[in-house]
Amino acid sequence: MISRISKWLVLTGLACLLLSCGNVEPEIVQLQGTTMGTYYTITLVLDAKQQKTEDLSQSKLKFAIDKKLELVNAQMSTYIPDSELSLFNQSKQSFVVSKATAFVVNSALKIYKQSQGAYDITVGPLVNLWGFGPDKRPTKVPSAGLIARQKLRVGGQYLTVQGTTLQKAIPDLYIDLSSIAKGYGVDVISEYLQSLGINNYLVDIGGELRAQGMKPKNKRWTLAIERPTVGKNVEQVIHIGDNAIATSGDYRNYYEFNGIRYSHTIDPNTGKPITHKLASVTVINKSCMLADAYATAITVLGPKVGLDFAKKHQLAVFLIVKKGDKFIESYTDAFKMYLVQEDL
Ligand code: ADP
Ligand code: MG
Repeated sequence: MISRISKWLVLTGLACLLLSCGNVEPEIVQLQGTTMGTYYTITLVLDAKQQKTEDLSQSKLKFAIDKKLELVNAQMSTYIPDSELSLFNQSKQSFVVSKATAFVVNSALKIYKQSQGAYDITVGPLVNLWGFGPDKRPTKVPSAGLIARQKLRVGGQYLTVQGTTLQKAIPDLYIDLSSIAKGYGVDVISEYLQSLGINNYLVDIGGELRAQGMKPKNKRWTLAIERPTVGKNVEQVIHIGDNAIATSGDYRNYYEFNGIRYSHTIDPNTGKPITHKLASVTVINKSCMLADAYATAITVLGPKVGLDFAKKHQLAVFLIVKKGDKFIESYTDAFKMYLVQEDL
């Protein structure tokens, strides 16, 4: 009899453990702030033990995250006059930067080569000329002469990285990492959370995101690709798994002169904003830095060459092309697995 009761106790004890009797529900924490001229929203899930850990309190986490993002800005921002990147831009020949900046520049140079110059971080002088950099917006469209003059300063072939030294072959070379630094920032924060033992999170900096794990109750992080219109309309619902996602498009950051739309993505070949009908490019990749840069690269390449490029490099890419007042979708085979078919 006694043994039967004790066996029963052990069994209910075990069941209790498995079902976590007196269980503390996982807690969702959301941290918000601003960085890199945009917002950030970090959503993370803390288990019972983590909820009691002083170092994982909301204020401590937010403080540490802000510090990490400030560091990325101090390294890679063209909006901060004494950032590493700005000091390199002001130098005439070479400048020693952090490992982080060298890593991002090296990664950008790889995509420069892969995209045969369509993606080019030395396009900065043209970005600024068209009013999408730290300088003021122009009051008229830049003249052909001005464009030609700035184009002379542009070219990834003039930039080399040796260890952590960035070198320029022409003194006026100027780098702009706006197309990649946000994605890199998302990776930095994701890896930081991971290092704290937080395995369930969604990091979002200005629409570049990285997801890991699940929400409580085994719910997946459900994301949406926006329809490239004014307002927030959903084009496609997706589940990205443990991956990052970045979108580039001409529908958020642009201005109009005399009815013509000027986008912040510059074709280094023409020295002008892109004019094709590719409205948005979404890339899913393990690395948010790469997703961010590839999304910009494909935006420059345009709908056809961009899609061919994505297929050639086996990238998971979703394109939205504007045709009249309709939007036409296309995507690579690698993207298919992330699409959520049914309405949620
Ligand atoms: P967002 O900032 O909206 O996420 P992107 O990631 O596409 O958009 O980055 C756009 C920025 O990239 C521009 O504002 C400009 O600073 C820079 N840029 C523009 N054209 C190019 C290009 N051809 N190659 C690399 N960077 C570019
Ligand atoms: Mg980008």
